[in-house]
Amino acid sequence: MKMSKMYLHTLREVPNDAEIPSHQFLLRAGMIKRLVSGVYGFMPLGYRVIRKIENIVREEMDAKGAQELLMSAVQPSELWKESGRWNDFGPEMFRLKDRNQREFCLGPTHEEVFTDIVRNDVKSYKELPLNIYQIQTKYRDEQRPRFGLMRSREFIMKDAYSFDKDWESLDKTYDDMYDAYTNIFTRCGLNFRAVDADTGAIGGSGSHEFTALSEVGEGVIAYCNHCDFAATTERAECVIEAKCENVELKEINEIHTPNIKSIEELHEFLKVDGEKLLKTLLFKAKDQIVAAIIRGDRELNETKLVNALKIPEHELEFASEEDVKRVTNAEVGFAGPIGIKDVIVIVDDEVPHLKNMIAGANKTDYHIENVNYDRDFKADIVIDLKLMKEGYPCPTCGEGVNLARGIEVGQVFKLGTKYSEAMDAKYMDENMKEKPMVMGCYGIGVSRTMAAIIEQHHDENGIIWPMSVAPYHVIVSIVNVKKEDQVELGEKIYKILQDQKVEVLLDDRAERAGVKFKDSDLIGIPIRIVVGKNAAEGIVEYKQRDCEDKYEFTVEEAINKAIEEIHSSVL
Ligand code: ATP
Ligand code: MG
Repeated sequence: MKMSKMYLHTLREVPNDAEIPSHQFLLRAGMIKRLVSGVYGFMPLGYRVIRKIENIVREEMDAKGAQELLMSAVQPSELWKESGRWNDFGPEMFRLKDRNQREFCLGPTHEEVFTDIVRNDVKSYKELPLNIYQIQTKYRDEQRPRFGLMRSREFIMKDAYSFDKDWESLDKTYDDMYDAYTNIFTRCGLNFRAVDADTGAIGGSGSHEFTALSEVGEGVIAYCNHCDFAATTERAECVIEAKCENVELKEINEIHTPNIKSIEELHEFLKVDGEKLLKTLLFKAKDQIVAAIIRGDRELNETKLVNALKIPEHELEFASEEDVKRVTNAEVGFAGPIGIKDVIVIVDDEVPHLKNMIAGANKTDYHIENVNYDRDFKADIVIDLKLMKEGYPCPTCGEGVNLARGIEVGQVFKLGTKYSEAMDAKYMDENMKEKPMVMGCYGIGVSRTMAAIIEQHHDENGIIWPMSVAPYHVIVSIVNVKKEDQVELGEKIYKILQDQKVEVLLDDRAERAGVKFKDSDLIGIPIRIVVGKNAAEGIVEYKQRDCEDKYEFTVEEAINKAIEEIHSSVL
């Protein structure tokens, strides 16, 4: 492509609302355009990268026998009502009505649609297993769209759905997809980890998230350097032994704590460690108030809480001031386990082992000391509610875990029969017995992957694309387009590379050399060949985007080096 003809508008300034490198560079490199919050379009250079990622995804999915198709984005509400998710999905779903008031949504995901198609077509075990996928635009009205392609409201996803006759067969399909994902993200040049994950609102029994390690990631993963444990912090089980089993239980005693409302203030006021305190957090879950009780220095894991309550995430909110006053009979800040009324009490599994604790008194300006589980209060549910932190024991081997931030680029789920049972997707087995299909689903955020690659591959001047996803492999820059020998040689190299099937850009714009170099760094083309003042002698400059070194090469040397570099890269 000749850049003089190319639709490309780069920006020198960093756009105001772009906080992270991938968002800034995608906008500055003119690869994406924002239409409204969380909604972006792809410009020619950016779309080439998307297609590269899509093709890697296709090749690896096809290699595992998955078949590509394309379903509609518009979905009728009836299917979602059958699975029970029309309500469960909540405000993230873009909903619309047709002219006859029939309800639809713009697909945030496609379990229902795929299950519907397959239940109508597939009748016999002979047709299973079946794994079908699409690469399609998805819609989610995210509460906080941000970071450009990272969390947008319209985004490109690859979603696959598998149908097997039993769990054993699903395990095989799942392992195949796990391998395919490992290949895909490796080929995309990502430093990632596959971690054990929560199954969330989608339901099911087993899941892994593929997480690209990055400081800007919204997810946190916990991993162990002593064994192969790795999980999202939401998912990670916290197995912590309480140390004070044989302590004598003391008498309950009210303490005056005027205006001391938060756990931090209490900590200061009483000069005791968080270990001696119980915090009581009040939530509203549908129509019920829930009191979640956890040791003062632990953090509540809301995912574990919603899973224990068996409600979708969006149905959990903080209790209102009014609700707090009603159930505690006190101002906000003095909630505790003793005497609280009309609530579901759910305690972290460490709490029953803790002795002589300090908690809110359910009385304004008072706390209580020497609170003990069983003697003084009981719970409706006792379960691990802790959020994993750095140094907590690994649930597999007991050594301290490490935490790292990451970007979830893909997720694989064993759905089991959740959807096939709800939606009656059955097949006849070898003995003519009807059975529900055993399902899996597998998503990759294609546009988010593009952003994640940039997060891991950039410097202060711009993007450094891995060869496999680069919009072009080589850029040939003509320093001065008024010099005939430079133009001629530039065109010649461009032609030779094209003939060799190299994806090449020719920067033949009537711009200053500085502008051209800045742009080529910004858009991140892996190899640059500069045709300048030594053109008459057939000498050019060769440079790779990922290293500082520049070489004076003959035309032939530069071309050979470029081709060799491309062929030796992971593509
Ligand atoms: P998240 O937890 O980040 O909201 P999710 O777990 O809801 O994502 P899935 O339903 O597993 O997402 O979707 C499959 C993939 O689609 C994710 O792994 C992610 O890469 C991508 N994805 C999900 N939501 C978005 C979004 N709002 N913008 C861009 N990509 C997204
Ligand atoms: Mg996910």
